[in-house]
Amino acid sequence: METVEAKALLATPVEALSSVNRQRRELLHRREIWTVGDLLFDFPRDYQDLSDERQIAQLDEGELQSVRGVVAEVSTSGGRFGKSRVSILVGDSSGHLRATWFNQPFMREKFEVGQRLLLTAKPRIRGMMWEMSHPQVVWLGDDESEGEARKILPVYSLTEGLSQYHMRRMAANVVEAFGSVPAEVFPEALLDKFRLMPIHDALRAIHLPEDQQEMLQARRRFIFQELFVLQLAVAIRRGQQQLTLAPQLPSTTKIDARIRRLLPFELTASQEQVVQEVAADMALDRPMNRLLQGDVGSGKTIVALYAMLVAVAHGQQAALMAPTEILARQHADTLADMLKASRVSFAVLAGGTNKHERDEILEKLALGEIDVVLGTHAIIQEGVKFKNLALVVVDEQHKFGVRQRAALRQDGHSPHYLVMTATPIPRTLTMTLFGDLDISALREMPVGRQPVNTYLVEVSLQDAWWQFVRDRLREGRQAFVVAPLIDESETVSAPSVAEAFEQLTNGELEAFRSGLLHGRMSPTEKQQAMDDFRSGKTQVLISTSVIEVGVDVPNASVMAVAGGERFGLAQLHQLRGRVGRGNHPGFCGVLLGEASEKGRERLQAFANSNDGFALAELDFELRGPGDLFGIQQHGLPPLRIADLQRDRDLLEEARREAQLLVAADPGLKHEHHAKLRRQMLIRYGKALDLGDVG
Ligand code: ADP
Ligand code: MG
Repeated sequence: METVEAKALLATPVEALSSVNRQRRELLHRREIWTVGDLLFDFPRDYQDLSDERQIAQLDEGELQSVRGVVAEVSTSGGRFGKSRVSILVGDSSGHLRATWFNQPFMREKFEVGQRLLLTAKPRIRGMMWEMSHPQVVWLGDDESEGEARKILPVYSLTEGLSQYHMRRMAANVVEAFGSVPAEVFPEALLDKFRLMPIHDALRAIHLPEDQQEMLQARRRFIFQELFVLQLAVAIRRGQQQLTLAPQLPSTTKIDARIRRLLPFELTASQEQVVQEVAADMALDRPMNRLLQGDVGSGKTIVALYAMLVAVAHGQQAALMAPTEILARQHADTLADMLKASRVSFAVLAGGTNKHERDEILEKLALGEIDVVLGTHAIIQEGVKFKNLALVVVDEQHKFGVRQRAALRQDGHSPHYLVMTATPIPRTLTMTLFGDLDISALREMPVGRQPVNTYLVEVSLQDAWWQFVRDRLREGRQAFVVAPLIDESETVSAPSVAEAFEQLTNGELEAFRSGLLHGRMSPTEKQQAMDDFRSGKTQVLISTSVIEVGVDVPNASVMAVAGGERFGLAQLHQLRGRVGRGNHPGFCGVLLGEASEKGRERLQAFANSNDGFALAELDFELRGPGDLFGIQQHGLPPLRIADLQRDRDLLEEARREAQLLVAADPGLKHEHHAKLRRQMLIRYGKALDLGDVG
């Protein structure tokens, strides 16, 4: 058990360590390391494996290897004007090797003839001589055996002025002086069950591993710990949701029949199933917290509309939030079509709503005279008062985090909550960021839907591509053209919308009616551009990725993307999803600029696959989660040692175990769980709105 004394000890300022002088203290502060506890838990970001140690005569070119030898000569050349070079000659019983450092004149001071060193790098033969350029150096003592012990060296994050060498010394120092202070956070049974290295061993082994095996064990322990604490928070958050009350809104046979009469088409089997899941949730007196995943065009909107109409049938209000005003208005149009013959009242609340209209809407919402409100997330941000808000649907907005959801709660009651996304969320993220949600999926497309044909259009084929686009336009179809930037930029060499508009309307697409759409236009202008396109007044819409999400114009069959290498794969998939939605086959052309080869490979993967899920996983692997769903944007603190993708197996285990633990001890009140509880609250209490657990 960690005592008060232990806590106080770990809070000791770093300068208490003999290896930390004033200058290094400042450097550590720059890295947000203030106490010995901070330093102890500042884990290496990598390791250097010096275990492949050879005699100089036995070296192989180009592989990371180490040699141990004595400095025979130290020399410098250049300096002042030209490139400076520090070079040392190191010998062992088999031969000599030259080590060189360019433009690091200070290295000169570090070597003396007769010193024993361990050098590690990928050696090359230069002339007749083995050479290592900028090798890692370990200074060995006179004792032959010293340096033998440490074959795996930790590599820490640094800051300017702080060397790896000093970081290592300070880390070794803190492990020695304070490494056995922190108390174990895991109960004995858990350590056994998952074969986790106990904390004191692990702290030593993560900083000063004897070998690879030990280092991996130590890392595994801390990775598990980090994921476990996260999963405890998620499990507890889920439990708390179950304690909140929500209005019971059963979809009775009568209600169901009434709603179905309004639907413009038969639901797919997938939609049926999801509608059932949603209806079952809403019938309970606990808030629904459901995530609906469905690839672009799978028909999520209708599920949302069904749910909203269930709420309205019970005399309650529903809100739908979309990421853009364009999308909010599109949903309002769909709703208007469905509700032509009904008395349900609805309104759009967004940036483009004028003050007078707005005040009127707010008043009616408070009085309950408006049943459904659609808009951007401004709906909740501005503290709009509802008479009885029973359902909130969030469309295509993953950044709508836990705290925003908490803001929806009204005097002890929570509305039901449905979030919809076409971005397929990798399972590791649904277990973490979205771990407190139940998940539904639309697995099939409405009948008749055809895959979008995708092409990478080389510069030499662009004339042919535009000819193809013109043919489609003459057949009566419409086309989107998307470019990444609004204006021409001097610093970024990417196509801009302004440029594309200028060029296309005076060139390739001169004969057709084109409209322009980008984020800097006023809401009214945007709406006008969208309406013109939807009604067919314009045949081509040249736009930034504001049309990326959700826009539904079934007559559009062509999507041309300029600067494709600047978009994530999931984003490209979203763009492609704008076409092929009606009865016409869709075509997507990614116009290649000077994409790097790697960029091209990525784009090729996109062209080869119509599976949004596979593409998202690939994006996740190539670019990390940041581009998909910023973990931080989501309000969660970043992970320090675990990696959701790499450590997904441990994540699964941590999740299962955390759920068991929370089921057995919902408030983590047991004294064996006190440390875990404390860690969880420190890290996630605020982000996940856990309040006073228990
Ligand atoms: P998304 O899941 O991308 O939000 P939408 O809800 O916008 O998809 O639906 C895409 C298109 O498919 C729309 O034009 C919609 O009217 C149509 N659609 C949805 N469900 C069906 C269905 N069951 N039968 C026929 N068309 C459908
Ligand atoms: Mg949609």
